[in-house]
Amino acid sequence: MASSTTCDFCGTTVPGDPPLTWTAAVEGDRLRRFCDSCSREHLRAMEAKLDSDFW
Ligand SMILES: [Zn+2]
Repeated sequence: MASSTTCDFCGTTVPGDPPLTWTAAVEGDRLRRFCDSCSREHLRAMEAKLDSDFW
């Protein structure tokens, strides 16, 4: 059976399991996946958010 993985940010879909370059993040009860390029953006955003929490 073919499964695919979709980026929750830009909607990019790849067949099969997500590549190692993809990122998985749990937000509440949902598992979200981000492709390699969105992972970079997401990481930056997460870091920015974390930083603002500490301020
Ligand atoms: Zn993406």
